[in-house]
Amino acid sequence: DSRIVIIGAGHAGGTLAAVLRDQGHAGLITLIGEETHLPYQRPPLSKAFLKGSAEIPSLLLKNADFYTTHDIALQLGRRVEAIDRAARSVTLDDGSVLPYDFLAIATGARPRRLPIPGADLANILTLRSIADGERLRDVLQPGRRLAVVGGGYVGLEVAASARALGLDVTVVEREARLLARVASGPLARFYERHHGQQGVHIICDAQAARFEGTDAVEALCLADGRRIPCDVAIVGVGAQPNDELARAAGLQCENGIVVDQDARSSDPAIFAIGDLSWRPMPLYGNRMFRLESVPNALEQARQAACAILGKARPAPEVPWFWSDQYELKLQIAGVPFDADRQVLRGDPDQAKFAVYHLCGERVVAVEALNSPLDFIAGKQFVAAGSAVSAERLADPSVKARDAVL
Ligand code: FAD
Repeated sequence: DSRIVIIGAGHAGGTLAAVLRDQGHAGLITLIGEETHLPYQRPPLSKAFLKGSAEIPSLLLKNADFYTTHDIALQLGRRVEAIDRAARSVTLDDGSVLPYDFLAIATGARPRRLPIPGADLANILTLRSIADGERLRDVLQPGRRLAVVGGGYVGLEVAASARALGLDVTVVEREARLLARVASGPLARFYERHHGQQGVHIICDAQAARFEGTDAVEALCLADGRRIPCDVAIVGVGAQPNDELARAAGLQCENGIVVDQDARSSDPAIFAIGDLSWRPMPLYGNRMFRLESVPNALEQARQAACAILGKARPAPEVPWFWSDQYELKLQIAGVPFDADRQVLRGDPDQAKFAVYHLCGERVVAVEALNSPLDFIAGKQFVAAGSAVSAERLADPSVKARDAVL
């Protein structure tokens, strides 16, 4: 009947509270979140919510009744200011102190800022929370010009949603291609072409140097002198883990809070789950990685719940992720660690294909665009460590599973 405190009422924290009750924990569970909303899903913020086809109630993980009937104490609109590991307590921004037997840190990540002149002008926004999404929705009006800084998933999803809303959109990316850190060349080239066909202007190899404007932003200026007039700008240049509380408390941190396969930190009474954890990947020889995805938040919530309740560790899962842009559904399974070749299956011109990543003959990841069968097959290959024939895999007349050696 231990007392469990969870800091961060987001996807990971909200799920952990629910799973703990589901698995029979009878003691106190307190979920503390600085946002005023009940735990919710963020993926729709750049997609359906931005386009106005989803509203807040449909984003919530659970409705308010759930927390009452499951006796989960919610402290929303409250920020945890400090962790006292010796006393096993946390201090909130109203000065109250909550003791714990087990603590879970699930404070997520926040958008990186662009340290360039003019970045504080009005209508230059980032997107992480419902509040950000509401602000963005207000300013994304038809006919306006939007500059997107950063050609990653969030930036490209906002670009697609803004085109659907009738804005003129320019995406500026510092690297030589879109999605440079998170997707293969063939996939990035496909997106570049598709966004172009949808009327998005894409400028790669370009450094944002400053914003211009009097009160609100009027232009984004690039280091090479180009000037992109705009009424709204969104900065999507990655996220950094909210691990300051953990660092101040002396927990081991690298690119986020270091945890083991049970999501346990360097303090056995403290767990760290979701976007802020620097975690081992069992299917990849326990390489350490930070994953910003919903499936990762769910997996680590289950790991932490099992460890806290003394239950067997759940089987390791294949990491996966998705992105929706226009009518394109991308699903990615695995991480292309040590991949030495890519196998293209299907036809990018038909907007239906997959890029398999192989290390020798073993599949380590798959990127499947409008191709759920390849996603399922690739995910199974990664889970099983399957070796495949690259030639058979590349032949769409052969079923993917028949490519296994
Ligand atoms: P969060 O959900 O961010 O929750 C952390 C919470 O902790 C926040 O509410 C924060 O306010 C709170 N907090 C922080 N510090 C404190 C403190 N000191 N005290 C109290 N509370 C605190 N993933 C996918 O898999 N597919 C997608 O298509 C996808 N699209 C996305 C689109 C957008 C626009 C964004 C922003 C993310 C998207 N993601 C997507 C990523 C996914 O939403 C995250 O991986 C997931 O939300 C991580 O959950 P989390 O609980 O770790 O963090």
